[in-house]
Amino acid sequence: MASQPRIAIIGGGISGVCLAIALQKRNLDVTIYEQAPKFGEIGAGVAFNPAATRAMKLCSTDIYDAFEKVATRNISTEKQKTWFDWLDGEADEPIGQEPYLFSLTNEFGANAVHRAHFLDEIVDLLKEGTTKFGKHLDTISDEGDTKPLKMKFHDGTEEETDAIIGCDGIKSSVRIWMLGKDHPGSSPSYTHKYAYRGLIPMKKAVEALGEDLAQNAKMHMGHDAHVLTFPVDHGETMNVVAFRTNSEPWPSSEKLVLPSEKSHVKKDFEHFGPTVQKIIDILEPNLDCWAIFDLGDHPMESYHKRRVCVLGDAAHATSPHHGAGAGMCIEDVAMLAEVLNDHKVRDQGLKGLEIAFKTFSETRLERTQWLVQSSRRSGDLYEWRVEGIVEDIEKIQKECKESNEKIWNAQITEMVKEAKSVLDRNF
Ligand SMILES: Cc1cc2nc3c(=O)[nH]c(=O)nc-3n(C[C@H](O)[C@H](O)[C@H](O)COP(=O)(O)OP(=O)(O)OC[C@H]3O[C@@H](n4cnc5c(N)ncnc54)[C@H](O)[C@@H]3O)c2cc1C
Repeated sequence: MASQPRIAIIGGGISGVCLAIALQKRNLDVTIYEQAPKFGEIGAGVAFNPAATRAMKLCSTDIYDAFEKVATRNISTEKQKTWFDWLDGEADEPIGQEPYLFSLTNEFGANAVHRAHFLDEIVDLLKEGTTKFGKHLDTISDEGDTKPLKMKFHDGTEEETDAIIGCDGIKSSVRIWMLGKDHPGSSPSYTHKYAYRGLIPMKKAVEALGEDLAQNAKMHMGHDAHVLTFPVDHGETMNVVAFRTNSEPWPSSEKLVLPSEKSHVKKDFEHFGPTVQKIIDILEPNLDCWAIFDLGDHPMESYHKRRVCVLGDAAHATSPHHGAGAGMCIEDVAMLAEVLNDHKVRDQGLKGLEIAFKTFSETRLERTQWLVQSSRRSGDLYEWRVEGIVEDIEKIQKECKESNEKIWNAQITEMVKEAKSVLDRNF
């Protein structure tokens, strides 16, 4: 082993880039291997909750500052603490007069970024030469406790390293290597929900919907479908995600995103009222449709195998109904960075890395896998699909409040403290 262990991060999405920054901040030696020719995120919004922003600060205050630079909250002064207002999307009421159902609030309400803009900001924080592009990891070879790990890439090259952290998303090659390709947990499951996503210039959205609907986070509920909107780009753009549930299989075995068009959205939401119809009218004519897959049917029993581990979507990809998948990635990063930086881990070389990964896995499994299941249920609550609750708004509100508060109120410093005591036990 070199004087300092070499850590390979597979994948340069939000998880991989934040992890590299957090580890570099702690003077660890990291390289990102990204399959794409350059960094890239889709043009869509992603919201971060209070627990995620606390975790960001622990990863590196530079990540938090970058986030603050591009973050957008609700525009109205009285909505600064509102996460979402829930509305009856099916009601046949004029635009802006959908019956109000309930709201959830937290310390800073909706707090969203345009994904590509956030990634651009954090990529600038990486040390020069951190990332190797065009490197799709095919497989790993682990030749024993004292030997380096070998990574085999699709371009025919091989590289050695001391530890591998898979941040390679829902179709993770690292997870497949850990579980074996025939293991049911190697493939994600279709949740029978899909989502159309769009970005609308705010000026156009305000003209069509009025200021309150366009500039503040709203959730329009309905049978087997729901539509959410929130502002991004410092209020210059309204982000739209329109979810639909049906029992059909997803039509592609390869692609999670398929091109679609507005006429399909119109058909899927024909039972919604004038406000949602208007939102659809102002979408671009051609837009993408995203299949919502997760890892909820066959959750991993462990996030590590010796000196290889997975985090973020690679470990626990979730449906997005809590708006917390990326937030969990950041919590994972903060936790793993703190554990890897522990002096006991640093003093023990290769063995220390394995114990760090074991500790990370033991302390992150419960919360991250609970999220996957709770998110599935939340999606169904928003669509009046939960048996025994259906359209009982009081019960829906109560459940949503409880589950979201469990996400938002978590304290990363407490979670790290607990992980450190698990680490002590594992040594
Ligand atoms: C519709 C929708 C809305 C969402 N909204 C929110 C939200 O509001 N809030 C929130 O917190 N979360 C949200 N999420 C979840 C969030 O998007 C994900 O949890 C997060 O982006 C996952 O980041 P990641 O870096 O782990 O994975 P990814 O973003 O998938 O990145 C994986 C990276 O690894 C690379 N890669 C893959 N395979 C390989 C390989 N074999 N070798 C090398 N590189 C590889 C990829 O090119 C990519 O760059 C949403 C998700 C969806 C689908």
